Amino acid sequence: MSLAFRTLSFGIKRSQPKKKDADDLNKKKELSTITEESLRRYDELREKMIGKVESKIEKKVKKNKKKASIEILASRKRVHDSDGDSENEVEETVGDVEKRMQKLLDDIRRTNRIFTWGDHLPNIILRFSDSSMSPSLLNRLSENSIRQPSPIQMQSIPFMTERRNVLASAPTGSGKTLAFALPVIDEILELKQRADYSSSNSSKLLAVVLEPTRELAAQTYTEFLKYCANTSISAANFSGEETDIQHADILVSTPNRIVFHLDKIDTSSLRWLVVDESDRLFEVVEGQDKCFRNQLAAIYKACDAKCTRVAFFSATFSHEVEKWCKENIDEIGMVCVGERNSSNTSVKQKLTYCGTEDGKKIAIRNLLRTSFKPPALVFVQSKDRAVQLVKLLSAIDSNLKVDSINSGKSDKERDETMERFRRGEIWVLVCTELLGRGLDLSDVGLVINYDLPTSIVSYIHRVGRTGRAGKSGHAVTYFTDADMKYIKSIATVIRQSGFDVPEYLMEMKKVSRDRKKDMLKHAPKRHKIAIVKEQVIKKKKMLAKAAAEEKAKNKTETQTAEKPEKKIKKKKLIKKNNKNI
Ligand code: ADP
Ligand code: MG
Repeated sequence: MSLAFRTLSFGIKRSQPKKKDADDLNKKKELSTITEESLRRYDELREKMIGKVESKIEKKVKKNKKKASIEILASRKRVHDSDGDSENEVEETVGDVEKRMQKLLDDIRRTNRIFTWGDHLPNIILRFSDSSMSPSLLNRLSENSIRQPSPIQMQSIPFMTERRNVLASAPTGSGKTLAFALPVIDEILELKQRADYSSSNSSKLLAVVLEPTRELAAQTYTEFLKYCANTSISAANFSGEETDIQHADILVSTPNRIVFHLDKIDTSSLRWLVVDESDRLFEVVEGQDKCFRNQLAAIYKACDAKCTRVAFFSATFSHEVEKWCKENIDEIGMVCVGERNSSNTSVKQKLTYCGTEDGKKIAIRNLLRTSFKPPALVFVQSKDRAVQLVKLLSAIDSNLKVDSINSGKSDKERDETMERFRRGEIWVLVCTELLGRGLDLSDVGLVINYDLPTSIVSYIHRVGRTGRAGKSGHAVTYFTDADMKYIKSIATVIRQSGFDVPEYLMEMKKVSRDRKKDMLKHAPKRHKIAIVKEQVIKKKKMLAKAAAEEKAKNKTETQTAEKPEKKIKKKKLIKKNNKNI
């Protein structure tokens, strides 16, 4: 093994990853396609509509005045008829303008691939200022170089501003966090500014945002902080270390923390329950009371359906969530951006056949030696494999700044690792499914699926850690002969996003439903990537323990068997000793 490492360990040369400068931040791309021409036509139609409505009101006022004079002049019938005609004429024109506006908005929806379902759908917004959002929030957006709403924001902001329950699905990195954070913050701002909002209400919780992991809760909380700064709103991260939840208006948390403290949390005035990564939080684990679905059910039950609205967001669409929403939530509006369950097309995706597990080691060595610009995320299927791969990569290049993160590490270690990765002190972060969802690590340009993901949902989220906010990214997925039976569905997703996959993969057999379920529960067995010291120590300890137990057992057995003989010996000894005395 050490020989293999030595042969792998010749110089990978690269410069330190570049630190983000202010220019990079200002170069934020627009996530939606709205042409100048559409904006001009939109403004024109809006002005016309406002003008028509105003003139209609004016006409009505005039009409009332006229009516009065008509009564005085007693020539009612003639004037009334002529007024009726002119009102119809105005209404028809308003109707026309409205139709033209609707067509324009539908065209923009189509170009941005926004699909909606539900009754009384609100119009999309083309600019943040088209919504009723407060000027302070609008300022914050421009301070953060967020100029134009992304497609999911264009539709979900008006849904939530109208206090509609919403089920939303949009690609990874398309701005779903702001899509729910802005309307929630804006509503709370407005509520707090109301004269009748008394100080007795001030300790009541107004919004809960659920996230599946601590890392994601921390990220979403930071985003809320950014937009609540200099306002009277207080946000808290319940999954963090210190939390003063008594005075929080907005609580971001993993569900388990909330469920555990549900008796102390006053949900009676909750305006919003936001479930981010909703399909993940709907997962059921058989025989596990503490699964996300049960926790979510407990939290939902504690809310007052009259007051609380729910918003579900995810990059992947689950029919189960849709079914539940339709059955349990009134007047839910649904919005889906792009194809359901598809990977982000800004990520260039590639499947690499490696034959065997050893082939994967060679492939990753070659990749890191040639076309690699840090930072990168490498996904493996288990905690142990994460540790093993770190050992392999460190052996390939001792200068490579590589580390791993997984649920086996303490909260403190996890936080520190994430911080170092964000600061650019780790170039390659090996991780498990723990980092698969939601994290916005904007510099990550490369995702490597060292171990094939066990579902397309997992694949979509993993590769979505790059190509964020309209930037481009790369994703490479390794597969071996052992993975052949699972590869077709992932190959299909890659092809649907417009990238090449070998034809023979498309001709592979489809995986059965049962097999898919089985894959989710048990990742395939793989040869070890490397033998790690701790594992050797652990194994030695286990062997020593087993040997000690065996010895102890044998001893007991021998003792039991030897007992009578020993007793005799003892008696003899006593006799002998007595003799000696
Ligand atoms: P998602 O939850 O859809 O995966 P995030 O909410 O994490 O995506 O957003 C991804 C990135 O896009 C973030 O860095 C965020 O600041 C940025 N972003 C959000 N909205 C916009 C926008 N309208 N224009 C440009 N960038 C945006
Ligand atoms: Mg997200």
